[in-house]
Amino acid sequence: MTVLDAYKNCTLCPRDCKVDRTQGVLGVCGESSICRISFIGPHFGEEPSFTGTLGSGTIFFSGCSSRCFFCQNYQISLQHEGRTFSSEQLFSEVKALAAKEVHNLNFVTPDHFWPHIQALCAELTKMGIKIPKIFNSSGYQRPELIEAYAQCMDIFMPDFKFAEPELAKQCMKDEQYPDIALKAIREMVRLKGFLQPWDPTGEQPARQGVLIRHLVLPGHVENSLKVLRLLHQEFGPGIPLSVMSQFCPVPGCSGHKEFQKGLQAGEYEQVLGLVKALGFERVYVQELVEKTAFLPDFHDPEDPFPGNRQRE
Ligand code: SF4
Repeated sequence: MTVLDAYKNCTLCPRDCKVDRTQGVLGVCGESSICRISFIGPHFGEEPSFTGTLGSGTIFFSGCSSRCFFCQNYQISLQHEGRTFSSEQLFSEVKALAAKEVHNLNFVTPDHFWPHIQALCAELTKMGIKIPKIFNSSGYQRPELIEAYAQCMDIFMPDFKFAEPELAKQCMKDEQYPDIALKAIREMVRLKGFLQPWDPTGEQPARQGVLIRHLVLPGHVENSLKVLRLLHQEFGPGIPLSVMSQFCPVPGCSGHKEFQKGLQAGEYEQVLGLVKALGFERVYVQELVEKTAFLPDFHDPEDPFPGNRQRE
């Protein structure tokens, strides 16, 4: 079986498009079988467990199967910014990235290019390159594929975006997201456990396990409260979380009234109030700022994250 075979009748994600991407037919993710990437490089905008002191070795894939209209990475997920990579180029650039002594390889939105990544991981293992690998995803994964991901990856960093089916339908056109994501994350936790070591100073970067991210959306505090209750009920207070406030309106938000301004302090405080009341023990929170230095501009060929440059 070659890398390309899995793209011929594509069922790599819950959209189940069954299109032949090798013939250039596009499914919901909008990408053919030619691997496309927008940015490869050290990145300092992740949580300290991943950024550590040397940065996270990020690989941002173009396209996305979730396609939320508010996506903060919309230039790559919805507008498909990026350049093509052969398998050889991918291997050589990722090898060079690992040699920069970053703490991990961080595959961002990897599911629709999984066959390329799986082959890449096999090559890295053959070369004796041992570095924690992160599956950094939307949470919208086929639960039955998690075992295969876990054979290559050490860390899962899924989003859990929506507990409300109606909101999922409005934002990404699939009301099944809450069920699908919960099943997928359950598998991730079963296979890898909670993130460890847990060191929010970043002195000891994470080597294995699961951390769940949730972006609080303006006008939808109730969704966030349901997310927290669900995760608490499912995994208990020890599950590592990152509760994010960095929502910023992007062009796709026009036409969606409540998404046209940033998150209000009162909304974030209400969510953090429940984090405290439920007794979650391992939580990253963010400072509520108008615009984060890590809101990317993928039109910048050097480095899309102004926050990375500010460190130089
Ligand atoms: S990876 Fe893309 S083409 Fe394949 S099932 Fe998902 S959305 Fe459809």
